Amino acid sequence: MNKETDFRLLGRLDSEFKTITAMIDIYCAKHHQINTLKFQRCNNCDQFRTYVKQRLDRCPYGENKPSCKQCPIHCYKPQQKIMSQTIMRYSGPKMIVKHPIMAIKHLIHDKKTIPERNKEMLSNHQKRKALLNKK
Ligand SMILES: [Zn+2]
Repeated sequence: MNKETDFRLLGRLDSEFKTITAMIDIYCAKHHQINTLKFQRCNNCDQFRTYVKQRLDRCPYGENKPSCKQCPIHCYKPQQKIMSQTIMRYSGPKMIVKHPIMAIKHLIHDKKTIPERNKEMLSNHQKRKALLNKK
């Protein structure tokens, strides 16, 4: 078990993570594959995916998270931010063909207004900690 990556994202955070994973893989499949017969996500993209998961886990909006595009927090480090923009720009338009349902959900989510933050909003991380303490 790897403590840094083996945890669950709840609800919408998990579906967002799956969508981003699909976009990372579309990008990686086109740009970083050596063996073209069998897709294997490269180390760089895999590390980036872990980074994304950790950011989603810590997002203070939790499951009420707005789309990253609209979010006022900007929690990504500069390097990862550039990587994210590069991947989104390349894979975004391709999502509608490869994963139409994910793509449409993503587009709808992008248009949602940013929720007001309040004390009841917990990050995925805080929820996980609370669950552990109950045991
Ligand atoms: Zn890659």
